[in-house]
Amino acid sequence: MAARFDVIVAGAGMVGAACACLFARQGARVALVEARYINGGEKNENENSDARVSAINLAAENMFRALGVWEEVAPRASAYRAMKVWDFNSAAKISFRAADLGRDCLGHIVENRDIVAALLARLRRHEGAAIIDNARVNAIEHLPDGGLRLDLPGMRAETRLLVGADGANSRVRELAGIQTARAGSDSDGEDAIVAALSTERGHRDTAWQCFCEGGPAALLPLANGDCSLVWSRPRAHADELMRLSPEEFCAQLRPLFGEHFGEISDCRGRRRFALRRHHAEHYITDALALVGDAAHSIHPLAGLGANLGFLDAAALVESSGARGIGKRSALRRYQRRRRGDNAVALMMMEALNELFGSRRAAVKAARSAGMNMTDALAPLKNFLAKTAAGVRGDVPQICRRPAAV
Ligand SMILES: Cc1cc2nc3c(=O)[nH]c(=O)nc-3n(C[C@H](O)[C@H](O)[C@H](O)COP(=O)(O)OP(=O)(O)OC[C@H]3O[C@@H](n4cnc5c(N)ncnc54)[C@H](O)[C@@H]3O)c2cc1C
Repeated sequence: MAARFDVIVAGAGMVGAACACLFARQGARVALVEARYINGGEKNENENSDARVSAINLAAENMFRALGVWEEVAPRASAYRAMKVWDFNSAAKISFRAADLGRDCLGHIVENRDIVAALLARLRRHEGAAIIDNARVNAIEHLPDGGLRLDLPGMRAETRLLVGADGANSRVRELAGIQTARAGSDSDGEDAIVAALSTERGHRDTAWQCFCEGGPAALLPLANGDCSLVWSRPRAHADELMRLSPEEFCAQLRPLFGEHFGEISDCRGRRRFALRRHHAEHYITDALALVGDAAHSIHPLAGLGANLGFLDAAALVESSGARGIGKRSALRRYQRRRRGDNAVALMMMEALNELFGSRRAAVKAARSAGMNMTDALAPLKNFLAKTAAGVRGDVPQICRRPAAV
């Protein structure tokens, strides 16, 4: 006999775990299926997940508050109240201040594993919710009633809806026969190097980003006063940088950030991630929907990837309502709400990356003028800030609630 669920979510990353919590909150019987071990408690969750951080925007914060997980995440989160962005090769710069937008902060830097741990703890408190770990979704079978059957280790499970939240290399997407279009001119040749660093002058509750040829470098504020580096580099340069000693690596950052930070030292946890950029041609098929990186993966330069995924999850749950789970009309509504918005975000990030990565003189002049003009134009800056905060456009209700800050 097969276990029956309303929804099975494949993938317990940040987006899949959030999606499972959102469906469970709506009263659906949910199973979250994850390839890694995650049922061994906090120790396993911490060992499994990397120590990456994400900039979490206002829309996501609102969703976490409504889910009742923000209280757990907030004590280790670092609020940033300003963002400074500049071009290494010119005097062009742009800055955003929370105060100018009438807000206390622009967002929070949170460790990914803290978000996942808080969401899994929340899900475990929902009666009827199942977390099935060490289990890969590897095959799906269509049932006559329109649902799907999955063979999982030790059990067969049937569902009205399968959500593919299994990341950029999504197996669910592949099983559904959904193709992806590559976004970006050379999305196979770029890595992001991440590390924690100490700095002489501290971060001053500000997210810093320097655009330089080959890719941007960001220093994000951590709650302990240190910074988290995200540095996008062409793969060959990333190879060189990864071979350097911690001291030599910090020396490479001084030309970019030294003016603002003074000495940069104590580089820890240096790791690299291949940057993949793609967009799924459809987000849905019969009884199946893709969310998060399974549907789209975007350059990390604006810290949008997970935030877009949270909006996907919230829009899917809202579009489904209590009665429409797995129904074609609800799935179409979800796709209409999210695919266009995500396509715009992907295009904007690719355009920015190419504009700021270019060595051509005409492009350099254009970006310098564009950045300074944007800095002077309050309405355009507000538009950009709202896009980054996730509060522009067709925002799901759960992401709109005003955060009590
Ligand atoms: C360097 C860097 C910095 C970033 N910074 C930010 C930022 O500041 N802000 C932001 O919003 N975004 C940021 N992003 C993007 C963000 O990390 C991703 O968008 C986000 O993690 C995607 O989450 P996800 O849950 O969709 O996928 P994933 O995190 O990839 O999770 C997928 C899960 O599915 C599981 N899985 C895989 N296959 C299967 C299967 N067959 N069956 C079951 N489970 C499976 C995996 O084990 C994994 O747990 C950054 C990305 C990078 C690389």
